[in-house]
Amino acid sequence: MNGSIPNDKIEEIRRRAEIASLIGEYVTLKKAGRNYLGLCPFHKEKTPSFTVSPDKQMFYCFGCSEGGNVFSFLMKLNHLTFPEAVRHVARKVGVVIPERSMSREEKERYSFAEQIRQVNELATGFFVNALLSPAGEGAREYLHKRGINESAIRTFRLGYAPEGWSHLLEFLEKKGVSPKLAEKAGLLVERTGKSQGYYDRFRGRLMIPIEDVDGHVIAFGGRVMGTGEPKYMNSPESALYTKGNTLYGLARTRDEIREKGFALMVEGYFDLISLWSVGITNVVAVLGTALTRAQVDLIRRYTTRVAAVFDPDEAGRKALARSLELFLAGNIHARAVILPDGHDPDDFVRSCGREKMDEVVAKALPMADYYIDQILGGRGTLEEDRDKLREAVSFLSRIGDGVDRSPFVKRVAEVFDLKEETLEREVLRAASRAPSAVPADLPQRTTAAERETLELRLIQMMLEYPEKVSTVRETEVLACFRSGELKSLGEELLAMDKEGRTMRDASSLVVTLTQEPLRRRLLELLVQESPYKAEQIDRLVADAIRKIHDRSNKERGRILTRKIREAEKAGDQELLDRLFTEKNKLLQEEKRIPDLHGKFDKLSAL
Ligand SMILES: [Zn+2]
Repeated sequence: MNGSIPNDKIEEIRRRAEIASLIGEYVTLKKAGRNYLGLCPFHKEKTPSFTVSPDKQMFYCFGCSEGGNVFSFLMKLNHLTFPEAVRHVARKVGVVIPERSMSREEKERYSFAEQIRQVNELATGFFVNALLSPAGEGAREYLHKRGINESAIRTFRLGYAPEGWSHLLEFLEKKGVSPKLAEKAGLLVERTGKSQGYYDRFRGRLMIPIEDVDGHVIAFGGRVMGTGEPKYMNSPESALYTKGNTLYGLARTRDEIREKGFALMVEGYFDLISLWSVGITNVVAVLGTALTRAQVDLIRRYTTRVAAVFDPDEAGRKALARSLELFLAGNIHARAVILPDGHDPDDFVRSCGREKMDEVVAKALPMADYYIDQILGGRGTLEEDRDKLREAVSFLSRIGDGVDRSPFVKRVAEVFDLKEETLEREVLRAASRAPSAVPADLPQRTTAAERETLELRLIQMMLEYPEKVSTVRETEVLACFRSGELKSLGEELLAMDKEGRTMRDASSLVVTLTQEPLRRRLLELLVQESPYKAEQIDRLVADAIRKIHDRSNKERGRILTRKIREAEKAGDQELLDRLFTEKNKLLQEEKRIPDLHGKFDKLSAL
């Protein structure tokens, strides 16, 4: 499963990694006792239940039960394979994984996404160099005319795709990249008809690499130089790039966003780059598409406050209504930034300057207020009023889930001189017809997991109090476990203890549990701060052991009794003898266990 990475390297990487700071790159965490708390990136929530335990190097969400160690976090969040997650952490903590330890076969298995990432990286370098070459002169001039400075050009790795059909193709071939792979990355296009081969997708365009949160290039945007069509062209979707899942610029602006406490949301990459050039750096761009839930989830990892720029026209107003629903459902405090005279942010900062922009943003109204006040406007003709009211009801009905809509209902009722109850009734009726904007998709906790509680508790104690491991060994309680998985986890802990290895790697053991409910329950127990005092632990361990033994003995007893009855009926004396011996043994064991517990009871009574 670990690809080409040797196990001792993985151990080293895990030991060096600090889970709180690594997760802190994606989730804003606040210290709470020994743990850290934040808003969960895996489900939508208002109050933080996403918990990171530096002691145990684990995370767990009490809202959606997602949990694991630093590798599982990255795998889940960024859709990485295990080796990719390990490599990512390795880069962060400065551990070098020798590439040559990869066999040919392993290389072939090496994740497809990683290959595309590498091709994109090569292409980015090619475009950057082309911009600096004589061929890129026109594009450079264009950038300067737009007020985009050198630092922005470098930061966003802007480049140029020269005119012609095979510049990139030839460059990539020289680098040993197969055209097929570059085609999959969206950089080349396969010829159709009689002619064979591939040609460059982007020609004579200014190139803007689109990066994911970690700064990996996942796609490109290209703006035509001159008169060609289309003016803007993006890479097609690929294994890495899904339209609407990305926020452009976030890798470069996320720290500023956290620092300033809000994000300015614009439409295109040039809006963002222009703002960045004048020093407004807490910006993200949605890249042309209507805002999506994935994008709202993404920004929420960094801030819950967004100021989004909208046009005051009809299209802008539709976009605003749709975004507002998503922001409300995503618990984002959104403000609407409306630039005067139909400016977009790019030409607004160029003509009016940074101070004016700051001023407009600072004055931006909460989006819901703006929507209700400005767009629904005052009263009109009867006909107009009816249309507006219909729009308002439909809007209100869609913001239902988990959002308090009463302040909005109140406002709209005021505008239309309606009774609040009347409007609320209309809204509820509309809501019952419309499909919910936010499906409840939290996993259900299984009752199977509840049944394992005792065994889980005991494993938890072994992990938290390694000094108790010897008690578990002495009482041979693992033999009585019902859950095969927990039993082998327990056995592994016994072996670790014998070899004198530390329990700090507990998280890596826990994530190996294949049964989801068990794994989640154990993580939940582990991440909680222990409510027990040290002197209570002996007793708790003893209790758990006794109960597990009792339960198992009772079950064995029941089975034996049944077998004895059957043997009696069948008159099988030989079998009866064996069964009686077994029953005696069981009785002896039952006597032995309370002795041991008695010892603990006395100890803990002190
Ligand atoms: Zn969660």
